[in-house]
Amino acid sequence: MTTTPDDAEARRAVKPVICYPVETLPQPDMALLTDARQDLRKTDEVLVQPRDAATFTVPAGHFFRITSVEGSQVGDLNLWNANDLNERFYSGKTRALHGTHITTGERMWSSFPGMRPMATISHDTLGWYGIDAYGGSVHDVIGTRCDPYTHNLLKGGQYHHCCHSNLTRAMAAHLGVPVQEAEPLVHDVLNVFMCTGFTRDTGQYFMKASPVRPGDYLEFFAEMDLLGALSACPGGDCSAEHSSDVAACYPLLVEVFAPKDGALDGWTPPPVNGYDRSHGV
Ligand SMILES: [Zn+2]
Repeated sequence: MTTTPDDAEARRAVKPVICYPVETLPQPDMALLTDARQDLRKTDEVLVQPRDAATFTVPAGHFFRITSVEGSQVGDLNLWNANDLNERFYSGKTRALHGTHITTGERMWSSFPGMRPMATISHDTLGWYGIDAYGGSVHDVIGTRCDPYTHNLLKGGQYHHCCHSNLTRAMAAHLGVPVQEAEPLVHDVLNVFMCTGFTRDTGQYFMKASPVRPGDYLEFFAEMDLLGALSACPGGDCSAEHSSDVAACYPLLVEVFAPKDGALDGWTPPPVNGYDRSHGV
């Protein structure tokens, strides 16, 4: 038990400030990207099967699109620098910079020491959703990825088709290594199409049925050569539960596109972060 101080209300009434104001954050040239995406040529596609994952590669300067097909389905996305798998998507820093959910014009940032944009969202057909009455929104960077360890802790048993295991199997197959070697490469995801938030009364992570419908897509511009892995979450639209075979699940389509020659004149790949890494020594 704690004692409430006399000035408790006054302390609670202090106005918050934004931790990381982004006015000084390098901005993507959205006019250039909007123009470039008007004339795209498809170069590759991968259909991710339900309760499974697949890898794909995207050259720097290409676009990739994740599309809902057949039914409402959530996807868990991992990204790596294709030339250095140590540089990977950093969900926590992306959240600190852009907030709990990301949409058009916002970026997926990479881990230290690179800490640079890996991909910029160039179009989001769910951009209209905003923040609903429950505080929920889509494409979150607050969840982790459903995994068999948490499942075992909370419910017991062995479930092998959580996004964590799906991503692990896909990376093991791509690299030709055992799953034990691939597993440490898997990291916290961008929850594509997932509708989530935190409850206001208890602060708990919640999910609700995704508003995604077949034909909806989230499109990205690759700021570097990317290796991606996408899992079609066993939670399906995540309206009820995940980490089980109960929910209706559907495939997700990944397509890669090249822009027209000259469409990216003026674009340069983002350099690695400017910190000198001496750490005061
Ligand atoms: Zn999942």
